[in-house]
Amino acid sequence: MGRVQNKVAIVTGGARGIGEAYARILIAEGAKVVIGDLLDAQGASLAAELGANAAYVHLDVTQPEQWQAAVAFAVKSFGCLNILVNNAGIASAAPITEFKIEVWRKTLDINLTGTFLGMQAAIPEIAKAKGGSIINISSVEGLRGSAGLHAYVASKFAVRGLTKSVALDVAHLGVRVNSIHPGLIETDMTRNIPAEALQIPMGRSAKPAEVAMLMLFLASDESSYSTGAEFVIDGGLTMGVPHH
Ligand code: NDP
Repeated sequence: MGRVQNKVAIVTGGARGIGEAYARILIAEGAKVVIGDLLDAQGASLAAELGANAAYVHLDVTQPEQWQAAVAFAVKSFGCLNILVNNAGIASAAPITEFKIEVWRKTLDINLTGTFLGMQAAIPEIAKAKGGSIINISSVEGLRGSAGLHAYVASKFAVRGLTKSVALDVAHLGVRVNSIHPGLIETDMTRNIPAEALQIPMGRSAKPAEVAMLMLFLASDESSYSTGAEFVIDGGLTMGVPHH
């Protein structure tokens, strides 16, 4: 019996990076997973590799009608919806005086509005399934500032707050909503950031699979009494600066 046996999940931005690790662990623990992404070839090939319990759907998280279609696809393919992982996200940095408005808008649109739209589309089905779990991927940059990452920091703080307002709205429906705040994780997004550039008390970055274990706990019934909460997974990055 897997830890999320027979539960049905949608993972956004699931074709690669940490989202791919989420899809892999959910499948390994018995769930059925719809992978949504813009990367159609990569997403479809991952779903094919994962087998009959995985399916891919093109899902631009900024588009409400694509959300409706993705949720309907999950229900049609696997019978219901229990878990939503709002993982799709982008980041880019520039000094505040040079930060381009288009980049600001696009970042907020994907990271924040995408998360909002996902919850709007998924909650009625998750409630219909007698409850479930929504996991919103924020960041350590949703807990503190980070030079240059203005839109990213603003979006990730907002995802943290939105998680709590929605958790309050839907607690009575049995829908739990929590945020995860990862530190430096080895993916395409962070390939130019060496661990040494940050003062990480544990002295290293993390693999996507390490964050996936935390997501799995929140997706499963093991976290049955957690909602509206922040789960930090950062090698100690936000607790303080280590002295050497
Ligand atoms: P990646 O860039 O490796 O993966 C993000 C995925 O999201 C890509 O497949 C990307 O596709 C997809 N995506 C982008 N825009 C959209 C959209 N509009 N609709 C659907 N999918 C989209 O990033 P990570 O795996 O590193 O990050 C995953 C999440 O974790 C993000 O929310 C990120 O902010 C967060 N995070 C990451 C950390 C890290 O250290 N890596 C630390 C803290 C948080 P495409 O390539 O086409 O853009």
